[in-house]
Amino acid sequence: MLFVQPHFDDIAFSCGGLVAKEVAAGGAPMIVTVCSEGPPPSAELSALARRVHQAWGTGDRAIEVRRLEDATAVAALGAASHWLGYRDAIYRASLYPTPEQLSGPVHPDDAHLPPQLEHELLKLWSDTGQPAVYLPLAAGGNVDHRIAFAAGAALQAAGARVLHYEDVPYVMRVPNAVEDRVREAAVPLRPEVVDVTDTLERRLEAISAYTSQLATLFRGEQPRDLVQRYAGSLASSPGRYAERYWARVDAG
Ligand SMILES: [Zn+2]
Repeated sequence: MLFVQPHFDDIAFSCGGLVAKEVAAGGAPMIVTVCSEGPPPSAELSALARRVHQAWGTGDRAIEVRRLEDATAVAALGAASHWLGYRDAIYRASLYPTPEQLSGPVHPDDAHLPPQLEHELLKLWSDTGQPAVYLPLAAGGNVDHRIAFAAGAALQAAGARVLHYEDVPYVMRVPNAVEDRVREAAVPLRPEVVDVTDTLERRLEAISAYTSQLATLFRGEQPRDLVQRYAGSLASSPGRYAERYWARVDAG
């Protein structure tokens, strides 16, 4: 299984239970990070990026800190890791100068990114021989998540089993976020619920590694409480926990 995360943290947040479950079953899941690169070395940081770094408490060391956090989380899950070297939209600041624009459509000057990422993911899928590819659903509309979502069509056409994961913590905070996004996505998707009761602790441990992200993304709530509540709501019986995925199915 290939688990594609636009940013360091998305897979532990959203799919950590399934990744650990796959490892426990003898599989070799790989976490593919799209935006693994920091700001261009010579560039002045934008006001937005500076504010974000400040909120994370990392200052200019943001990319180093995030890479270390990710290494800890990936090790906790037992997965392999692969970086694609793209830059986070906060470092493409001339295109997305405000937080609202970061959650909006892909800027025309970014139009080369979706086909480029699609090409790289197709190659990785083919090279690794992994049957399934997990991509974000892009609930919440973050532009990097949208770009990754868009690769799903070509991967499916090439024969990959493509599933979209629910973007945590956004889907936990916003009522009907998943339903709204599934409708907006306008491609045939079928929900698949995976019981992750036995590996939920691994997921929580991996999530806790992303110290710089937790305060801003979970808005002061305890990640453990939110994740347990949401994973409990998806499970079939009390005391069980689950993750839900949206599989691309053939039209008609
Ligand atoms: Zn993300």
